[in-house]
Amino acid sequence: MLGLMQNWPLTVDKILDHAAKWHGDVEIVTRSVEGPIVRTTYAEAHTRAKRISNALKGLGIKSGDRVATLAWNTGRHLEAWYGIMGIGAVCHTLNPRLFAEQLCYIINHAEDQIIFTDLTFLPVLAEHRAKMPSVKHVVVMTDAAHMDDSVYPGALCFETLVADNGADCEWGGFDENTAAGLCYTSGTTGNPKGVLYSHRSNFLHTLVTLGADVMGFSAADVLLPVVPMFHANAWGMAFSAPAVGAKLVMPGAKLDGASIHELLESEGVTFSAAVPTVWQMLLTELREKQAKLSTLKRVVIGGSAVPEAIVRGFRDEFGVDVTHAWGMTEMSPMGTLASPNQATLGLDAEGQLRLKLKQGRVPLGVDMKIEDDADQELPHDGKTFGRLKVQGPFVAAEYFKGDGGQILDEAGYFDTGDVATIDPDGFMQITDRAKDVIKSGGEWISTIEIENLAVGHPKASLCAVIGAAHPKWDERPVLLVKLKDGESASKQDFLEFLEGKIAKWWTPDDVVFVDDIPLGATGKIDKKLIRERMKDYVLPTAVAKKVSA
Ligand code: ADP
Repeated sequence: MLGLMQNWPLTVDKILDHAAKWHGDVEIVTRSVEGPIVRTTYAEAHTRAKRISNALKGLGIKSGDRVATLAWNTGRHLEAWYGIMGIGAVCHTLNPRLFAEQLCYIINHAEDQIIFTDLTFLPVLAEHRAKMPSVKHVVVMTDAAHMDDSVYPGALCFETLVADNGADCEWGGFDENTAAGLCYTSGTTGNPKGVLYSHRSNFLHTLVTLGADVMGFSAADVLLPVVPMFHANAWGMAFSAPAVGAKLVMPGAKLDGASIHELLESEGVTFSAAVPTVWQMLLTELREKQAKLSTLKRVVIGGSAVPEAIVRGFRDEFGVDVTHAWGMTEMSPMGTLASPNQATLGLDAEGQLRLKLKQGRVPLGVDMKIEDDADQELPHDGKTFGRLKVQGPFVAAEYFKGDGGQILDEAGYFDTGDVATIDPDGFMQITDRAKDVIKSGGEWISTIEIENLAVGHPKASLCAVIGAAHPKWDERPVLLVKLKDGESASKQDFLEFLEGKIAKWWTPDDVVFVDDIPLGATGKIDKKLIRERMKDYVLPTAVAKKVSA
């Protein structure tokens, strides 16, 4: 027997319809790529997005066609998203931090027909135009006064399209399983693979992330998504902000500490989200200027493990609560958050902080398990590490065009490529990426844990740990340290700093001071590049062993 409730397909166009109808006057504030602060509202964004839908139809875009965006977080970018998705076309977010060759690969693989872009990225697109045969049009998200036809001859102007097209356009009316968005993983191994979100998966992800244990913001909040819309959909905030009618502040191209601080204060931001490196820059800026955060209450930090120093800095110096989150492009992206539960309530401040540093608990809609190499499920004892696998209605079932083949196990779980523990209270902790974990004498050493402790050294700016070959133990850890400007330190300083904080056999065999720790396209430490740079490195302990052998 079927239920007798209304059939109301879960399509994301309904989110902006709702925002326009019930929160129409709420502002979307953008630090525009051209410079000035620009203000619109949900009602205006809705109308303008519909005009963009009509423009797309006029340019021949049909349901299922891919339309890309290569752009900063701005109000226009949001309008483009809804304009594309509302008519059943697929919004493909391109990450401008990728190398041009990777961008071309992705654009060709997706067969993007139109690219919406900012003035910033037009020269790159122009340079590689010949390598993107599927692209029929480029739309520059600016006004006519800023168009320069010599950069990309024939490019279209966003504001001209808005002005020239009517706002009368029907959105939705298709199956909720229709594809809505496409985002490629950064391809740390092999070619990037496309994650194809559906309207239904995005809608459900939105509802789940609005829970109090997840993002938990409301209509009374002011949101600043520093996390880019091209990085796993700004963790869903371009959907969840209009879904509740929160004021939205878009940072545009300026993501440095000073610019973010200025927006946080001038717009009264209460909630923000970004990767740890962004917050590190902000905290440095605030300390240098002896500035305050007068309205910010909560930040969600994820994408890579949050160092303890950031959580303490926010809490003790600025009165801001940090929620650590973990997820991935394949999960839309939210997986777990370290929000308190009954088990944490009795803990003192230090005990709570220890749990905040874990990646956290799953909300309804995500399930997880850890397994050993023989696919046997491992206990939730907070100590045993295993491969982390996940399942849920907003987790990928396969990659676009079948790349990578079958990606689910027999029970329908997706292997995240992460290695983790789960404690008896349900808090998951990532100990490593499966490909980064150091295997020393048959036991596993977590590089992330050592990095996070080492970066708490007052002279450290960034730290990375990799495994180096060792004749007896297979691999031993090496700590790479980039010091803060003008600082000096010895290997011994760092080894002493780690003493007592980690098991003795986890202690790095060497500390190497470097000028640069490379970050990848989503702001994470690029271990692949580090390993490449260190390929001729030989551990001093390995040499000693050879000599004495
Ligand atoms: P990319 O690899 O393309 O940057 P994602 O943003 O999807 O893509 O990255 C997902 C991966 O990032 C996770 O599988 C995990 O390894 C890492 N990650 C995300 N959040 C955290 C976190 N809070 N702590 C540790 N690692 C994290």
